[in-house]
Amino acid sequence: MVIEAKDFKVLKPSLWEMEGISTRTMDEHIKLYQGYVSKSNEILQKLTELPEEDFKSAHPTYSPFRALKVELTRALGGWKNHEIYFSNLGGKGGTPSGALADQIARDFGSYDRWLKDFRATATAARGWAWLAWDYDLKRLVNAIGDEQNTFPLWNATPILACDVFEHAYFIDYGAARAGYLDAFFKNLDWNDVQARWEALRR
Ligand code: FE
Repeated sequence: MVIEAKDFKVLKPSLWEMEGISTRTMDEHIKLYQGYVSKSNEILQKLTELPEEDFKSAHPTYSPFRALKVELTRALGGWKNHEIYFSNLGGKGGTPSGALADQIARDFGSYDRWLKDFRATATAARGWAWLAWDYDLKRLVNAIGDEQNTFPLWNATPILACDVFEHAYFIDYGAARAGYLDAFFKNLDWNDVQARWEALRR
């Protein structure tokens, strides 16, 4: 199995026409995404061809096997997180509508309250802020990820991903993350978030 990197220049040309997130940032960011895809493939291939002695030497402090397993979660996380992020962006901002708007109001009180919570989540995070549907709680949750592979919620699917690693905004905003978050919401494609939500509700 080989994971293919998506060509977002073809899939979503609007990612290179955003107000507040530059084409330079997008070009560099896509390179990082492609790196996660190629490292995912490299690690998966290494695991397929792993010499028997690497199974025998598995160890929780350090072992080549452990390193591959840990970094596989980071590589796959980096691949998946960015595919949601790039697919969420390149829109016209605004607010959610339909069933998603109702669910946000039900789970957070109101859209404004959700927005405050999400912005604070993205401000407090070191890597990612996600809006996810939790199948067990049967509600939407705003969650923090400090790395590509930290703090996942089991049995929950992110429908909105905001990258808050410095590479997502330093070229355009320096350390001023709040300006980037304004731009993120200005360019958010709520139709994409809504479609993700509808697909997993089926
Ligand atoms: Fe990123």
